[in-house]
Amino acid sequence: MYFWGIPFIGPSILILIPALLLAGYAQFKVRSTYGRYERVRTADGISAGSAAERILAAEGISDVRIERAKRRLSDHYDPRARVLRLSNPGSVSVAAVGVAAHEAGHAIQHARGYRPLALRTSIVPVATLGSQLALPLLILGILFRFEPLISVGILAFSAAVLFTLITLPVEFNASRRAVAALRSGALVNTEELGAVREVLFAAALTYVAAAAVAALQLLLLLTARRR
Ligand SMILES: [Zn+2]
Repeated sequence: MYFWGIPFIGPSILILIPALLLAGYAQFKVRSTYGRYERVRTADGISAGSAAERILAAEGISDVRIERAKRRLSDHYDPRARVLRLSNPGSVSVAAVGVAAHEAGHAIQHARGYRPLALRTSIVPVATLGSQLALPLLILGILFRFEPLISVGILAFSAAVLFTLITLPVEFNASRRAVAALRSGALVNTEELGAVREVLFAAALTYVAAAAVAALQLLLLLTARRR
């Protein structure tokens, strides 16, 4: 159905609300949990950088460098450069150690040839392009009522959605590896391990919410087209 030339999605758009609420809650949860454990020092005084170093060493990984990331909470593992970037490697907070262990988890995935990570890395260029082009293509397609443009727009958006879905097993697995490594290396105590789990769970929730919002948006686009 079209309304002033715009495909009319109608009340079905309401199915986005729970996912958007989850996304908002997850953002709040990750900030508040990270903020709380950012103020708690590890009992042994181990820093985020040395926790990551020790985890990598225990796994026999020697070709991954650890650098300082530019922004707060921008910690990540770069599989192309084989660099683990931590926003505060010198921090001895439980939160920073947990995040560092998670990023080390990605480096372990890479070293072990964990398939979902390789898949995610390979679709990054397509997904990035897709997320940039989808909206302009859809708007132009709708404006000029040019169906093929809408199809390409939906295809571009699908690439971005696929990326958010593949991200889920990759992130859960990295957190599992982080908790296992922290425990087996006795890098944190039981209480701290619980805090790390809380931080990583909140972070995982943001990925789940992002995937849910993206997948539902795609579903809405596809159903609006059918009418
Ligand atoms: Zn991650």
